[in-house]
Amino acid sequence: MHITTERPDTRQGPAENFTGTVWLDEPAAPAAPSRLRMFSVRFAPGAHTAWHRHPHGQVPHVLEGEGLVRRRGGEPAAIHAGDTVWTEPGEWHWHGAGPRTFMTHLAVMEAAEDGTTAERHEHVTDYPA
Ligand code: MN
Repeated sequence: MHITTERPDTRQGPAENFTGTVWLDEPAAPAAPSRLRMFSVRFAPGAHTAWHRHPHGQVPHVLEGEGLVRRRGGEPAAIHAGDTVWTEPGEWHWHGAGPRTFMTHLAVMEAAEDGTTAERHEHVTDYPA
């Protein structure tokens, strides 16, 4: 057992992966053989990810605020504090804050064998305003 009391500094989400202001914390990064990855992602109003997909899927669990999620071929869906999303392995999607609200979600996923957790595609060009 290990209790983490210090963790890396909060860092800003890189512009190639996000639009708008996004802050990332990594509350846990267990050593191999675990491939669990966990991020707390704080989106400012209107901020959102680019289109992307996860090799083994992802569980975004909304901790605070209201946001939107969309899968390729679907319509934007509202998500609220307490909601849990499951994105299928390889399913292209985006997620982010509502246009006038903050949104924080915990993002839980399993890394691929090479350590990657996401494949990025283009930025979202029609995010709801
Ligand atoms: Mn995702």
